Amino acid sequence: MKAWIDGKIIDGSDAVVSVMDHGFLYGDGVFEGIRITHGRVFRLDDHLARLENSAKLISLELPASVAELREATLATAAAFGEREAYVRLIVSRGVGPFGVDPTPCPEPRFICLVGSVVLYPEERRRQGLRLVTAAVRRPSPDVLDTRVKSLNYLNNIQAKLQAVRAGVDDALLLNQAGRVAEASVANVFCVRGGALATPALSEGPLGGITRDSVLKIAAAQGIEAREEPLTRYDLITADEVFLTGSGAGLIPVAELDGRVIGSADERPMLARLTHALDAFRQENGALIPGI
Ligand code: PMP
Repeated sequence: MKAWIDGKIIDGSDAVVSVMDHGFLYGDGVFEGIRITHGRVFRLDDHLARLENSAKLISLELPASVAELREATLATAAAFGEREAYVRLIVSRGVGPFGVDPTPCPEPRFICLVGSVVLYPEERRRQGLRLVTAAVRRPSPDVLDTRVKSLNYLNNIQAKLQAVRAGVDDALLLNQAGRVAEASVANVFCVRGGALATPALSEGPLGGITRDSVLKIAAAQGIEAREEPLTRYDLITADEVFLTGSGAGLIPVAELDGRVIGSADERPMLARLTHALDAFRQENGALIPGI
């Protein structure tokens, strides 16, 4: 892994932050997870825009211009040197005294990590994931706007842990109204009668870049796609369900709470979108110099 930290690119194992960084003490900061594929940083400008907006909402000043963060990201990706990888951008509040007040933290910190991509094994990808409905709910936007990708992922972690303890792959988080929000770190889509549906952003999911890419591909290919409220019933009775995320890409869901969804042998929409997303990724990323 390579890390950009304090203006230098070093080996990831040498990258350290102070224990008094409020990102560490309080989860005070924001982040992005980005896919490098085909030697490009996928939709880097859109990820930077989401980072900028997340930071703005929590009144966290970026320590450099977006153009400089972009350059740092590409330089770190070039130093890592692989055509397939994963990028983590972090902006933390920086070092300050004890206490949640961020105003005595004068220097926000930007870190870029580029490392190997961790994917589900091919067998899970073929068979599909098994999900359970999480006991914890996705916090509503009046707790913290759900479009903010903050450094505090405790409810996602609780949901994931429940899934792991139940011996399945991931958890489905419902919103405060009991409708579908998303999986622990991925958006969710279902397919019925050749049309796509995904929870509207007002239902509480993160505005995923992969989710948005699927919606763009659907629009370009004339596939009907609705953003609307969905319930567990809609997923359990769908023809296909799949998750979307920078890390996982598009990955089928085979089961929710023990109910088998569709058929593992027939996922025509997923196959079509996987192919289309790969082509989309080849065209929509910032080229990494030298690789
Ligand atoms: N929801 C959550 C909570 C996430 O952490 C992620 C991963 N960033 C996603 C959805 C998927 O978003 P993206 O496609 O931008 O990776």
